[in-house]
Amino acid sequence: MEELLKPIVAEIFDQNDWGQPAQYIPELAGIDPKQFAVSVCLADGRTVSAGSASKPFSIQSISKVFSLMLALGRVGDQLWSRVGREPSGTSFDSVVLLEKERGRPRNPFINAGAIVTTDALLSGREPRTALAEILTLVKDMSGSEDIYINESVAASEQETGSRNMALAYYLKSHGNLSCTPEQTLGTYYHQCAIEMTTEQLAMAGRSLAGFDGAPKIISHEHIRRVNALMMTCGHYDGSGDFAFRVGLPGKSGVGGGILIIAPNVASIAIWSPGLNHYGNSNAGTRAAEMLSRATDWSVF
Ligand code: GLN
Repeated sequence: MEELLKPIVAEIFDQNDWGQPAQYIPELAGIDPKQFAVSVCLADGRTVSAGSASKPFSIQSISKVFSLMLALGRVGDQLWSRVGREPSGTSFDSVVLLEKERGRPRNPFINAGAIVTTDALLSGREPRTALAEILTLVKDMSGSEDIYINESVAASEQETGSRNMALAYYLKSHGNLSCTPEQTLGTYYHQCAIEMTTEQLAMAGRSLAGFDGAPKIISHEHIRRVNALMMTCGHYDGSGDFAFRVGLPGKSGVGGGILIIAPNVASIAIWSPGLNHYGNSNAGTRAAEMLSRATDWSVF
């Protein structure tokens, strides 16, 4: 695996095609795009990394995988009355379909769907309790206590989050938000501002890869379903492109991270903060494509 990763890292730095970090979150906008990390956890317990694999980055929308797992454990199939499971074909923060489809977001990975999922976790709880539950889940899954929320990133998003505010009010107007938009978004921004290294994130993915030694968080059936949603919806309107190029379930975040699952074989985390036009990591997606090709891990 070390030998496999070396040429991938070399090619990423060679091509020098990084994309731009998320500009709409001021705290992330100034990050140097020329950074790269990859970690691979294998079923036999080994973890192999290359690049800046011990550097924490903002997991952003990758947190939606963890909040979905918690919500499924808590409310089970009831969640699907509030959020669908179809790809949206629109950008992660689009408001277009919400109007047409009367406030039921297409899937739990676009912002509107993730806001509903967080709202489901929040109902009957204080925001700090719900957040502590998400953080505890992430720590348990990765086997690391050294994971924190970056308050400046959360505050930065809150200040510029008019679009998410619009989505939340839209959901509220359709009766699909039980808490106030402010409360739900406050929790959502904080879960997005969790920082992890690729090493920690790849470790956290072991439960979704179905490894024997990994913490049992949700049922096997739910693991299948979360992976199916990652494959079909995990990269927003770039999900088809990711499936075409990589052939594995993956979830991206605008911090430049991607969590990729090769069921029963590997859990992979990649980070490079420059984004492509879908808002997914540019170099990260290319690295995932090279890795999938080199290993033949595509599920197809
Ligand atoms: N916190 C970000 C937002 O709501 C998450 C988006 C993403 O990572 N794609 O806009």
